[in-house]
Amino acid sequence: MIPHKSNGIWVDEREATTKQMGLQVTHCSVCGNVASQRNVAPRNFRYEVATYAHGPQASEFPGGSSAAPILYLDLTQDSDQRYALVTEDGWLVGYARVTVAGGTVRVSVEKTVEANVMRYRAWGMFPDVTTARMVDYENSLPFDQAVKGPGEHCVITLNMLTNYYQGGANEKFSDGLMAPGSGMSYQELYLQMLQMSEQSGE
Ligand SMILES: [Zn+2]
Repeated sequence: MIPHKSNGIWVDEREATTKQMGLQVTHCSVCGNVASQRNVAPRNFRYEVATYAHGPQASEFPGGSSAAPILYLDLTQDSDQRYALVTEDGWLVGYARVTVAGGTVRVSVEKTVEANVMRYRAWGMFPDVTTARMVDYENSLPFDQAVKGPGEHCVITLNMLTNYYQGGANEKFSDGLMAPGSGMSYQELYLQMLQMSEQSGE
């Protein structure tokens, strides 16, 4: 088969969205069929970026050794808190809504922008920081439903892949930002987690 002869002119075949990268093609100068194609991402679009529920690293807690960001939860008191979902390139793209009720934990994902695409969502729950780790999609606990906790406190991790746009209601994350509904900055929330874990004698 004789290969097509590209005319070298890239034309937009499909616009990029957060769901899918854009596609450009060249056509054959002989027969007019598509000769070559390439995926294109407009400036500020990001695809499949690792994203975590932001929190202190496990290694900041007594006995913890991994760099995994974790959330340390008190299960003796009912609570309803949003934690930041942050991409590895530092953008706030949503919230992990964590509801503690009667010793159970319910985790839901909320987006800052509807167009954000969050796939391969996974969360795990552990009795302490020494066992906490990121879980993969196949081993995730269920979202949007109460899961029984391991006792008076627990550690959770949450991760996913995100397609998003750098701008609009997505913003650069800083732990000085206020955590919605808490009246505290994320930094203060994290400090509270560290203090709780010390009081629990771990
Ligand atoms: Zn051709």
